[in-house]
Amino acid sequence: MEIIAGLSLRNLKPKVWDAASPYHLSGLRAVMVSYADLDRTPARRRKAMEKGLRAYLGIPEGVSIYLDNGAFYFLRKGGEVPRQEYESFVRQAQPDWYAIPQDYIPTPRMNDDEQLDCLRRTMQVNRAFQHDGYVPVVHISRYIDEYLRQFLADERLRAKPAVALGGIVPNLLRARKAMPYSDVLDSVRQARVELADKQLHIFGIGGTATLHLAALLDVDSVDSSGWRNRAARGIVQMPGRGDRMVANLGSWRGREPDEDEWGILASCSCPACRQFGIEGLKASRMHGFCNRATHNLWTLLDEARQIEAHLTDGTYETWYDQHVENSVYRPLIDYVLEQRQV
Ligand SMILES: [Zn+2]
Repeated sequence: MEIIAGLSLRNLKPKVWDAASPYHLSGLRAVMVSYADLDRTPARRRKAMEKGLRAYLGIPEGVSIYLDNGAFYFLRKGGEVPRQEYESFVRQAQPDWYAIPQDYIPTPRMNDDEQLDCLRRTMQVNRAFQHDGYVPVVHISRYIDEYLRQFLADERLRAKPAVALGGIVPNLLRARKAMPYSDVLDSVRQARVELADKQLHIFGIGGTATLHLAALLDVDSVDSSGWRNRAARGIVQMPGRGDRMVANLGSWRGREPDEDEWGILASCSCPACRQFGIEGLKASRMHGFCNRATHNLWTLLDEARQIEAHLTDGTYETWYDQHVENSVYRPLIDYVLEQRQV
C-alpha cells in the first residue's frame, strides 16, 4: 500500500522527496497537492501551470504527484471548485493523478435526503468527467450501496482504472451521528470487492493504526497531511501506537511518551532522529517542525512496509499482536482480520 504524503505549498520544508535534503526519504513514492492551496494564491497557480507541477515543486521522476480537488475547503467557504480553472490547471500542470473537480461530501449529521443529494451531485460530476484520466470519487456513507450501483451501471465509469473513496474521516473522527466503525469498515470492504480491478485510494488516513485497517482491506493507497499537522503541534507518531506529545508549543495538550516510548524514539532510525536525536524532535521553530514531520512520515512509510512484509510472509497475525498497542483500533483490526477469513 502506497503512502501519499500531503504537502502544503505555503511551506515545502522538509523536502522529503529531495535527494539533496538532509530529510530525504528514499521510500517515498508519491506526494499530494491540494487545489485549494493553488486557488488561494493565483501567482503560485500560474507558475505551476507555466512550469508544470513537477518542475515547479522540484519533485523527481519516480515520485508521483497526486492532485486533490480541495472540495472540502471550497465547501467550507460556501463555494465550489471553479471547474474550468481546475480543468485548465490539470491540462497544463500535469499531475500524475487527479480527482474530479468537485465532490460533495456527505457528513454523518446530514439527513437521508441531504446525503442522497450529495450522492446525486457527486455522480453528476463523475459522469461529466469520464475523460482524460479524472479519478471518480465515491463516498463512504449510509448510501454506499446506491453509490456503487450507480457507478457500476455506467459503462464508462466501470472502465475507469482508479477510484477514490472519500467521506471516511468524519466517520472515523466520531463526528455526531457517525456510522459505527464496523459499518465504515464493511463499506470499504464492499467498495474493494465491487471495484476489484481498480486502484482504490482513500482520502485522508494518517494514523499508524488506521494504516493497518486500510492495508488489511486491500486498499492501494492512502494520503495524509497528518504527518505535518501533528508536527506543527509538537506531536510525533509512533510505530504501532498512538501519537505522543514531545514538544510543548503552547495551547496543545497530549499524552507524553513513557520511558519505553522515549527509548523507542531514541533508537529511531529515521533521517531526523539519526542526525538530531530526541533533542531534534523536541526543538521549537522550523528545525523542530522539520524533524518531527520527517520522523512522522518515515514512521508511516516504515509501518506500511512492515505491514506488507508480514502480510506477504504470513506472519501478520503473530506480529501485530505484540506490535499494535491496545487501543480503540485493536478490536477493529481483529474485526477486519476475522472478516478476511470468512
Ligand atoms: Zn525518528
